[in-house]
Amino acid sequence: MDTHQTDCIVVGAGIAGASAAAFLAADRRVALIEAEEAAGYHTTGRSAALWILSYGPDDVRALTGASRGFFEAPPEGFAEAKLWSARDVLYLAAEGDAAAAAEAMAAGPWLKELSVAAARAMVPAIRDGAVSAALLEEGTFDLDVAALHQGFLAQLRRRGGAMALRSRTMRIERRDGAWEVEVTGGGRFRAPVLVNAAGAWGDEVAAQAGVRALGLVPKRRTGVIIDPAPWQPADWPALMEAREGWYGKPEARTRLMISPADETPIHAHDVQPDELDVAIAVDRMQQMLDIEVRRVERAWAGLRTFTPDGSLAFGFAADAPGFFWCVGQGGYGIQTSPAAGRLVADMVAGRDSAWLGDSAGLVESIRPARFG
Ligand SMILES: Cc1cc2nc3c(=O)[nH]c(=O)nc-3n(C[C@H](O)[C@H](O)[C@H](O)COP(=O)(O)OP(=O)(O)OC[C@H]3O[C@@H](n4cnc5c(N)ncnc54)[C@H](O)[C@@H]3O)c2cc1C
Repeated sequence: MDTHQTDCIVVGAGIAGASAAAFLAADRRVALIEAEEAAGYHTTGRSAALWILSYGPDDVRALTGASRGFFEAPPEGFAEAKLWSARDVLYLAAEGDAAAAAEAMAAGPWLKELSVAAARAMVPAIRDGAVSAALLEEGTFDLDVAALHQGFLAQLRRRGGAMALRSRTMRIERRDGAWEVEVTGGGRFRAPVLVNAAGAWGDEVAAQAGVRALGLVPKRRTGVIIDPAPWQPADWPALMEAREGWYGKPEARTRLMISPADETPIHAHDVQPDELDVAIAVDRMQQMLDIEVRRVERAWAGLRTFTPDGSLAFGFAADAPGFFWCVGQGGYGIQTSPAAGRLVADMVAGRDSAWLGDSAGLVESIRPARFG
């Protein structure tokens, strides 16, 4: 069996592995290995495609903010399509729950108050008397996830990196100063550094390598597409119930994507939507919006995977040389991906990330070793 000798093996070709591999390939030989026939088959292909600066814990916000410039002005030739399009986020507090808006305002400087009348001018489907307060987050946007993901994979190829699809890790062993990985389909890879970007399967990949698990928890989240006719939602902002009880956004000009914002812990697998979650999405949306749902056009689910404290886990494992964790992207893996990929490449190379401001503090806060 031929062995592909490289400087770095990245396991998992979702957005986390693709972005890390693209940045790593700038100055080293990289092999990106993916279990499925298509990169992005799992969570990356199932997101809501939003960039929201206020979303997530501090480490996530730092990387979300640091990614903005890349989306607005990606490297020459990175993608044919524009990666973003402006879409503000409108937060709606339910009647009788004005405290939700006050709490959201207190969380940080991102939101501004809006009268309910102004919110209804933006989204005329808001029901009379259903909303007690509204807040607006400006400067947020929709992302073209496919263009972004393909852009990273093309950048990897241009930089001489290789991607192997249908290649699930079967055996991972440290031998003579390098990781040796055997995959389904018969390939064998060898490199001193292995980056674990396997998303919901991160702990399983670690177990194959004999590395202590972090306690990752995949959580199911559901997306539902409906036809809100006669409303024309194309120019509506994204909508978020102020306690994240549900959210929605215009999709493909005439449709609306809604989600019950579910977070059901579940084992890593090709997750499918549960009918009850679909019904909850419709019900919660209809408590605030006057939209008749004649039928659900499409529903899907994906796994948002969290570390035990909800923050990212990037860094070398304390118990295994050359084993680098790149997991815990939760509900923010797309919007953080350019800065996350660059940070991972810096950390693997032992480089400072001055472009990130207080990078030392950030790197310390996301060290996987914090889980013992
Ligand atoms: C409904 C929904 C809405 C979301 N909305 C947003 C949003 O608006 N904005 C945002 O930023 N994020 C959003 N997210 C979160 C975002 O999609 C994830 O954070 C991101 O896709 C995670 O990427 P990943 O590469 O870590 O995981 P994945 O895309 O799941 O990639 C992991 C890959 O590893 C592969 N793999 C696993 N085990 C092995 C193995 N043993 N060998 C080889 N390969 C392996 C898998 O096949 C998979 O392709 C949303 C998620 C969902 C479900």
